[in-house]
Amino acid sequence: MAISRTARRLEGIGSTIFAEMSALAVRTGSVNLGQGFPDADGPPAVIEAAVEAMRSGRNQYPPGRGTPDLLDAVIAHQQRHYGISLDRSQVVATTGATEAIAGALLGLVDPGDEVVMLEPYYDSYVAVLQMAGGVRRPVTLRAPSFRLDIDALRNAVTSKTKLILLNTPHNPTGTVLTLAELEAVAAVAIEHDLIVVTDEVYEHLVFDGREHIPLATLPGMFDRTLTISSAGKSFSFTGWKVGWASGPASLVAAVEGAKNWLSYSSGAPLQPAVAVALNHHDDFPLALTKELQDKRDRLCDGLSTLDMDVFVPQGTYFVTTDVSRYGYPDGRAFCEALPARAGVVAIPSQVFYDDQAEGGQLVRWAFCKEVGVIDEGLRRLRSGL
Ligand SMILES: *Cc1c(COP(=O)(O)O)cnc(C)c1O
Repeated sequence: MAISRTARRLEGIGSTIFAEMSALAVRTGSVNLGQGFPDADGPPAVIEAAVEAMRSGRNQYPPGRGTPDLLDAVIAHQQRHYGISLDRSQVVATTGATEAIAGALLGLVDPGDEVVMLEPYYDSYVAVLQMAGGVRRPVTLRAPSFRLDIDALRNAVTSKTKLILLNTPHNPTGTVLTLAELEAVAAVAIEHDLIVVTDEVYEHLVFDGREHIPLATLPGMFDRTLTISSAGKSFSFTGWKVGWASGPASLVAAVEGAKNWLSYSSGAPLQPAVAVALNHHDDFPLALTKELQDKRDRLCDGLSTLDMDVFVPQGTYFVTTDVSRYGYPDGRAFCEALPARAGVVAIPSQVFYDDQAEGGQLVRWAFCKEVGVIDEGLRRLRSGL
């Protein structure tokens, strides 16, 4: 009999739902509306910049902190978009936002510390927090509006709370926190002297003229906020895994202290290319947002002709629906049956919830796909469901 030798810190977090469902899509020839990666690549000029960087010899270990051109581009981006002033001690480049999240949790959370976070959770938060020995305290965003419940946030804070982990625009619900909601988060953080780690990878992908407001721009918040972002979502280079964390030097140093022993550094030719993207291609995320908004409407309209409630998102790549009327025990059963029934793959949102009463029947659909793919997915759903 095979003996499992896996460490307890990985118990229950051995694989990701995205890998599982993308493999299922390939195996069954299904339309993949599951994993959130775009069908189309980012700006060709940025790809050329990466090729040029490789040809000009930028192929050895970059500095652990990140290449100076990328650090400067992040600094300029934060100044230009949000009026946030940073110096090079206040930015660290990471292997995607994923490593910035890992670095933040491993670098800031001691065993037993509590982390207040929005439920449904992005799955890496749960996994890395478990590895760090921390304890999650959920604040649940509830359908149909998925707004932040300020009282729930207040009640989740205890004497053991080390930090609040925020995500806006929020994956998977598409909630974009309003200024009033962010002010409430800031008030709680200041009252309890908490750090806030805020995952803003969808910062530019916000619809209907809404605005993304970085928490770090609120009064009194810069000094206690670590902001995380990535080129993956803004520039449609999810496979490049170039991300960054920014904020006060002490918080950035904590991330760097951990990431030095994870990847140390990565993406030598990709970092300068992302610098080009940040410095010269503000138009790309703008155009992408317009496109995504149309695709959101297309997918939402199509899904709403089926027997499910559709919760229209304010940002991100994703729309959530309630599939309870299809009569499956839960969303996972629905999603597992979907490839055979309709030739489509989606993600059961319940894997992002502890509270199965809230998340058990919710399913996440990605619209960061070519129009033809969305239409084919909808056509299959209409005939198969
Ligand atoms: C995609 C995503 C990430 C991961 O970003 P990478 O740069 O690909 O590592 C982190 N947080 C959220 C909410 C995401 O959707």
